[in-house]
Amino acid sequence: MENKKEMRTWLDNLGLDHPLVIAGPCSAETEEQVLKIAHELKDTDVNYFRAGIWKPRTRPGNFEGVGALGLKWLQKVKAETGMKTCTEVANRNHVELALEHDIDLLWIGARSTVSPFIMQEIADALKGTDKIVLVKNPVNPDLALWLGGIERLYTAGIKNLGAIHRGFSTYEKTKYRNIPEWQIAIEFQNKFPDLPLINDPSHITGKRDMIFDVSQTALDLNFDGLMIETHFDPDNAWSDAAQQVTPKTLIRIMDDLKIRKESDPEAAFNKELDNLRAQIDVVDNQIIELLGKRMKVADGIGGLKKQKNVAVLQSKRWNEILGKMVLHGDEKGLSEEFILRMFKAIHQESINHQEKVING
Ligand code: PEP
Ligand code: MN
Repeated sequence: MENKKEMRTWLDNLGLDHPLVIAGPCSAETEEQVLKIAHELKDTDVNYFRAGIWKPRTRPGNFEGVGALGLKWLQKVKAETGMKTCTEVANRNHVELALEHDIDLLWIGARSTVSPFIMQEIADALKGTDKIVLVKNPVNPDLALWLGGIERLYTAGIKNLGAIHRGFSTYEKTKYRNIPEWQIAIEFQNKFPDLPLINDPSHITGKRDMIFDVSQTALDLNFDGLMIETHFDPDNAWSDAAQQVTPKTLIRIMDDLKIRKESDPEAAFNKELDNLRAQIDVVDNQIIELLGKRMKVADGIGGLKKQKNVAVLQSKRWNEILGKMVLHGDEKGLSEEFILRMFKAIHQESINHQEKVING
C-alpha cells in the first residue's frame, strides 16, 4: 500500500470547515437512550453518530452490547435526525448485518486489529463496499500491525479508509487509560500523510476531564478528526462511564478547541508551527519519563551499594560513560559541550538519589 491522494477523497467530499467529529455513546443501551443522545447532537458540528452494539469487554460478565437489535435504533437515528451512523464490527456476521442495515461508517476495534485472522475475515466480508472503514490502532504499540490491518482492507478493494488513534495498553500505571505514544501517530502520518487519521481521546484518557487537552494536542498534530463518547447521563452509562461527556460538554469542547484552517498563508504558518511545537512537547515529555526511569534505576544502585557499603561516586565508570555519550552525541549532531553539561546535571541528580537511599 502506498500513500495516495485519493485516500482523502471521502473526507474531502464531506466539505467540512472543521475536523471530522464522531460522537455518541460508548454503547447503545436502549432505543430511548440512543434517540435522545442523537437528537441532542443533531444540530451541532457532529458528522457521524456512533454507538457500539457488540462490545468487546476485557472481562466477561460486563455489558456486552445489545447486539443486532441496535442496528434498527441506528436506522431510526438516521431517519429522525438525518445524521450518518457508525458502529464497531468485529467479525463477518457483524459486517453483513451492518451493511444490510446501511450503517454509513464501520470501525474496527483495537482488540480486532491485533488479529490478522479477524482482519482478513472482516476484509473478505467487506469486499466491494464503498462504506467508510476506520481501523483503530491495535492495543499493543505496533505500527506495522496497524498498517497491516489497513492493508488487508485496501487489498480487498476497500478505498474509503482511515485510522483511529485510541492509545495503547500498558502494564505501567499512568494518568492515561491507554497511553497515547504520540510518536507512533506521527510516524503513521509521515508514512501515510493522506490517509485520514482520527483521534479518540475518550479511550486514551479514560477520564472526561482530560479529553479537551488530548483533543487539542491531536489537532495541533494535524489529526483530521475526533471520536468522542457522548451520553446524556455519563455516570450511569452501562460502559465506560468515567470517560463519557454530555452533549453540552461536547459542544463546549468543540467551541473551545483551537482549530486552524489552512486557507490563508498566515493560518498555514501557524498550523505548521503548532504542529512542530506539539511534536516538541511529545519529545519533552518522553525525556522527563526517561529521566524518571533513570533515577529509579539509580535508586536501585543506591540500595545495592548500601548493602555492600560501597562508595557512591565511582569516577572510572563515570568517565567511561561520558566518553561513550560524547561519541553518540556527535553522531546525532549534539556538541561535546552540551553532552558534558547535560550529563553532569543528570549525574548530579543521580548521586543525590543514591545518597538519599544510602543515608535515608
Ligand atoms: C469503543 O470505541 O467503544 C471501543 C470499544 O474502543 P476500543 O476498540 O478503542 O477499545
Ligand atoms: Mn467505549
